[in-house]
Amino acid sequence: MMRSRHLLLASAFLTPYFCSFSYAQAPFAAGTASAASGQKATGYLAVPAGVDAATNIPVVVVNGAKPGKVLALVSGAHGTEYASIIAIEKLISDLDPAQVTGTVILVPLVNVPSFEQKVPHVNPVDGKSMNRFYPGKADGTQTERASFLITKEIVDRCDYLIDYHGGDLDESLRPYAYWGPTGREAQDRVSKEMVLAFGLDHIIIWRERPTDPAATRYLDNTASVRGKPSIVVEAGHAGTVETDDVALLVNGTLSTMRVLKMLPGQPHPIENPVWLEKVVDVLADQLGIFYPLVKRGTYVEAGMRLGTVTDFFGKTISEPRAPVAGIILHVNAVPTLKKGDNIANIGVVAVKAP
Ligand SMILES: [Zn+2]
Repeated sequence: MMRSRHLLLASAFLTPYFCSFSYAQAPFAAGTASAASGQKATGYLAVPAGVDAATNIPVVVVNGAKPGKVLALVSGAHGTEYASIIAIEKLISDLDPAQVTGTVILVPLVNVPSFEQKVPHVNPVDGKSMNRFYPGKADGTQTERASFLITKEIVDRCDYLIDYHGGDLDESLRPYAYWGPTGREAQDRVSKEMVLAFGLDHIIIWRERPTDPAATRYLDNTASVRGKPSIVVEAGHAGTVETDDVALLVNGTLSTMRVLKMLPGQPHPIENPVWLEKVVDVLADQLGIFYPLVKRGTYVEAGMRLGTVTDFFGKTISEPRAPVAGIILHVNAVPTLKKGDNIANIGVVAVKAP
């Protein structure tokens, strides 16, 4: 009897001992940002010079007081999609490590040269989109070297990832998210919880994506094929930073962190989002001046006119029409229209929710 009583006492003391033992979170570093448990640190991902110039990508680590998963928030692959960049800036100041379980890595501006020079869509150093060359190359041009470093320092080290975009300088965009199912049920369940918790009311189901880890092209897909649930979110348009757009991205992030148990409180998932099963691009076939007839968010029937294109003397040279029925996700926001430019993107509503 005495002996078993001793064992009971011993286990009663052992349990709280082991709990307190795992209380503190180890230091976490991304690039030159290294944060101890309960700390926030700033630094850079230093992309070395190669066939072209070096660049420094800002990075912030918010290392929670309690151990847990690692969430990466990456913005500014397109450095003039301002609302998404400002949303991450707000999260950098708002996230309190004392409240966070696990670690958050924030990359507010991948494409510094685009921001600096106000060049939409591409990195002006090499003319490449910074969301098309993942997983990158150590000996490529600046975009490829940056993508290579982000794959190693951010993607490989995180458990979940959110990639932030929005309407670029020439895109009038309504907010939406992308959910890319992989066919791996457990992973897809988590990424679907994330996209619903984020709360944007239009969600594109992004199927048929590259599955080769050496040719994933997109950042979120690079994380997905490596087994990390990830989503893409978009808000903001045409160079503006409107409080509604920033709030959608900030509050959506906090809600997603709650569904992942990284912040206290309840998530606010969207209940009946509009699921879109594909996106149809309408492209310009020649140079001209664009006069739109639709706005972002308009529902169009197949055959409806999207606008008028004239030459520089005012003569109508084309009347682009919607090839399918759907929702205008974004429409060209400026008069400039050159051959190959996107006139509009139309989201086709899914027959049934996934
Ligand atoms: Zn973008």
